[in-house]
Amino acid sequence: MEKIYLDHASAMPIDSRVYKFAEPYLLNVGNPSSLYEFGQEAKDAIEKSRIKIVDLINAENEKTIIFTGSATESNNIAIRGTAYRNINEGKEVLSSAIEHISVINPMKDLQKNGWTYNSIPVDKYGIIDLSKLKKIITKKTIVTSIMYANNEIGTIEPIKEISKIVHDEGKYLHVDATAAAGRIPIDVQKDGIDLLTLSSNDLYGPRGAGVLYIKPGVKIQSIMPGGGQERGLRSGTENIFAIAGMGEAAKIAKNEMNAESKRLITIRDKLISEITKMDETYLTGHQKQRLPHHASFRFSHIEGESILLNMDMYGIQIATGSACSSKTLEPSHVLLAIGLKHEEAHGSMVITLGRSNKINQVQKIVKAVNETVIRLRKLSPLIK
Ligand code: PMP
Repeated sequence: MEKIYLDHASAMPIDSRVYKFAEPYLLNVGNPSSLYEFGQEAKDAIEKSRIKIVDLINAENEKTIIFTGSATESNNIAIRGTAYRNINEGKEVLSSAIEHISVINPMKDLQKNGWTYNSIPVDKYGIIDLSKLKKIITKKTIVTSIMYANNEIGTIEPIKEISKIVHDEGKYLHVDATAAAGRIPIDVQKDGIDLLTLSSNDLYGPRGAGVLYIKPGVKIQSIMPGGGQERGLRSGTENIFAIAGMGEAAKIAKNEMNAESKRLITIRDKLISEITKMDETYLTGHQKQRLPHHASFRFSHIEGESILLNMDMYGIQIATGSACSSKTLEPSHVLLAIGLKHEEAHGSMVITLGRSNKINQVQKIVKAVNETVIRLRKLSPLIK
């Protein structure tokens, strides 16, 4: 059976070109802190990778780029590192209601330790309520964290407008661009971003590397003291394979972004128009301001987990945003934030396309979704 992978937001394969490029660093590499040739080769690989990241996001220079171990780590350093460093200027932090948990949880942790944490609501499409942002932000708000685009509903936020409001009133804007990078152009200078998070794996790079961009002049401190690597902000021996691979992945993503995004938009829009023809089936997120590879839906009367398992029987891998945590079985905070009721949020399906997907797969996907939804609704105790 042909397998169709439609869950690129959860995990992406390493691009074979990236693997080929970075493989020598997996097999044979010194410690970049060592002065002999072997070590210096490793250091050189990191610095070359930094230049490629600068190029992807139009950063001012290489010094603005810190390699970390993941997007989660970058988010934590950005939020906690600025909150603690600027404690004398205020103890307030702010995020949108639909941030990734790796943004929300560090903020909640700060709240437990005496900071004020506020969350900004979004509209039914997932767009930040700018008037609420204006009302809530104060001179004491050290860091405001708003994602470039949401991983569950694909909505792209108006970052330039957000930046203006944040800089009129508050201090730093942190942007989690994990879902957006490599799909839509990001220009940290034009967008007015102070801190930006990227993830290697979300660019078809190896797992085990992330980036935190830090605009020159931003005051930030380490949250994990150690050997002082990466400007003292991310101590620990560098993962050269992942870092070198991430740079190459960023270069490929930048070169191919225009053509690849156009190609994926065609597949995405066909999927959206076909799938939403079904009864009581709705697109979640914004129709136009959405990521090129992202199509997310909700179906009344059925559960996301059952959709996922049924689709898997067709060899098609999708995600469901319905249960953020299988431990709590709570519906996704993102879907609740866009105004869905609990029972509505449970029936969600998220498709994130990638390089392996082709337009000729659409028919098979749509057929599988149709059959799945009809079968599950027949069994649903929610339909009287
Ligand atoms: N932010 C966003 C928007 C994400 O989608 C993810 C997950 N891919 C993360 C942060 C965290 O990434 P990781 O688990 O690789 O640290």
